[in-house]
Amino acid sequence: MAHTHSHDHTGKAISRLWFTFFLNLGISVAQLIGGFLSNSMALISDAVHNLSDTGSVGVSLVARKYANKSADKQMTFGYRRADIIGAFINLIILIGVSLFLVKEGIERFLQPEEIDGSIMFWVALVGLVGNVLSVYILHSDSKRSLNIKSAYVHLFWDAAASLTIIVGGVLILYYDLYIIDPILTIGIALYILYTTYNMLRETVSILMEATPEDIHVDSIKDELESISHVRDVHHIHVWKVDEHQKMLECHAHIDKSYSSLLEEIKSEIKACLSDRFDITHSAIEFELEPCESSTHHP
Ligand SMILES: [Zn+2]
Ligand SMILES: [Zn+2]
Ligand SMILES: [Zn+2]
Ligand SMILES: [Zn+2]
Repeated sequence: MAHTHSHDHTGKAISRLWFTFFLNLGISVAQLIGGFLSNSMALISDAVHNLSDTGSVGVSLVARKYANKSADKQMTFGYRRADIIGAFINLIILIGVSLFLVKEGIERFLQPEEIDGSIMFWVALVGLVGNVLSVYILHSDSKRSLNIKSAYVHLFWDAAASLTIIVGGVLILYYDLYIIDPILTIGIALYILYTTYNMLRETVSILMEATPEDIHVDSIKDELESISHVRDVHHIHVWKVDEHQKMLECHAHIDKSYSSLLEEIKSEIKACLSDRFDITHSAIEFELEPCESSTHHP
């Protein structure tokens, strides 16, 4: 359901997450069965979507367990990326399934099949109620989460998708408008692809150790070089370990005559990084002579 990652490790929050996990799993299975019984591809698409949402709740539940495991000598960055790797696998599977749904949708658009509108209607209604219920359950958690807005936008569109299937069921029930089902199927599959694309971009950029979106390497360079006795900062690398923690490493060229002030300069750099850029873990290599690569590396 919601892709919330509120890092509240209290038992309450976790049991709420487990509850939503099983609630969504139940809805997905009901929609899958209903989809096959009624022959509605739109219902199956919504089931796939809910199943993937269930998967991401499951991933964050499992990842929480591992994320609590602290770093050791072998895993010096800890296990925080378990979440990202799980999300990545989830998204790749989802892309494959969505493309399959688009193909099925097109085939049925060209050759509509008969559908049981009443099963479609009732199962979609159950899906909508389940969606709304899990928004309600996760509400108290998401208040503390940074991702509240995106989670709510996501849930809004999820509910909208269920609503269109309810309307589709009514149209089929009263007017035998079977063509509406493949249209909804393609629409839902495209919606899944769109949200998947956005999440995949974020996930891949973390795995590629890209500079976080809210940070500009140039402004880090400017800020750090404005600290007294720092002549040049280069070899700047900023990356995220997971969605929350940012890391930095860089070279800092210091005036030779001020080498005795190294500790003070270091404290100033660390304070600047933490206050201005929210970077609390950094490794700085000081040099009294600029290194060779200082001219051709950010
Ligand atoms: Zn969803
Ligand atoms: Zn470098
Ligand atoms: Zn460290
Ligand atoms: Zn250097």
